[in-house]
Amino acid sequence: MKAIVIRQTGGPEVMAVTEVPMPEPKPGEVLVRVRGSGVNFIDIYLREGRYKADLPFINGQEGAGVVAEVGRGVTEFKPGDPVAWSSVLGSYAEYAVVPAEALVKVPKDLDLRVAAAVMLQGMTAHYLAHSTYKLNVGDTALVHAAAGGVGLLLTQMAAQAGTRVIATVSTAEKEKLAREAGATHVIRYTEEDFEAETRRLTGGQGVDVVYDSVGKTTFEKSLRCLRRRGTLVLYGGSSGAVPPFDLVELSKLGSLFVTRPRLHDYVATRDELMWRAGEVLDAVQGGRLKVRMEHSYPLAEAAQAHRDLEARKTTGKLLLEIGE
Ligand code: NDP
Repeated sequence: MKAIVIRQTGGPEVMAVTEVPMPEPKPGEVLVRVRGSGVNFIDIYLREGRYKADLPFINGQEGAGVVAEVGRGVTEFKPGDPVAWSSVLGSYAEYAVVPAEALVKVPKDLDLRVAAAVMLQGMTAHYLAHSTYKLNVGDTALVHAAAGGVGLLLTQMAAQAGTRVIATVSTAEKEKLAREAGATHVIRYTEEDFEAETRRLTGGQGVDVVYDSVGKTTFEKSLRCLRRRGTLVLYGGSSGAVPPFDLVELSKLGSLFVTRPRLHDYVATRDELMWRAGEVLDAVQGGRLKVRMEHSYPLAEAAQAHRDLEARKTTGKLLLEIGE
């Protein structure tokens, strides 16, 4: 089968299509014929070596497809079932072996490409909005990179919770998308000072929560956008990692809370995964959550998908379309 195998970490050019042996499911595992694989920022971190994985590895950790074969002991799935998963490496390939406990069934009639596109970013937006900080009616949230993959989904979920969303984006096109997703105010943070603007929009009070996936270039200012005892959720570093930070600053800025969550810890049990994935996939199928498919690429163009995502050019979701 064909797969994007990373033999050494580096730039997008280390991702070429390679012919590899067909994997076989071990006990408790399922072999899936992949229909689509989502492209996520975490795939870039792994490709670069910023996050570590044992070499060689097949990149990609989000997909959907059809069960081809089940390993011994698997009773929940059978060949032909439409399934999806995230947080398991190996989705940039024609076939992937996934532990049964990481798989969820895709509702009938939901396009597998859409399921592949929403698992990782959708469940991330879900835990950010419902669990890391539980958004409520009347809260005000600052959402950075609101027209990105996670950003558009998080903005929709926050707006549906009755939260006032102040969004940051870099371009006019992204501003339009953030507004359509439900943002009340949009700040072009490449042109305006988002700290001053957020303070102005909140009458000097600051917001209840900041969702910051940009990291290095936004972190310190994000802290200064919070109300007393507000929460900063640092969930990514698209502009680079946040440098070491003196915790005493949190007390000086109003007894703030900071958390650095990851999806893995919010789908920690089978029940939690089923609940979160179920809510996300149902919302997509029911039309309550819109997934913006920015662009889909054939497997052979995975490197280009990375270049586009890194270049800050994209909005919504990038997908590798694989198989039929
Ligand atoms: P996005 O589609 O959001 O792409 C990243 C966006 O970040 C860009 O479009 C851009 O939006 C903004 N950005 C700001 N500065 C830079 C920069 N220097 N270089 C590149 N982009 C920049 O990506 P994803 O939705 O896939 O992921 C968003 C973030 O969420 C990532 O940091 C990712 O690691 C994190 N993440 C974390 C998870 C977790 O559980 N902790 C799970 C999933 C994702 P603009 O042009 O508007 O500034």
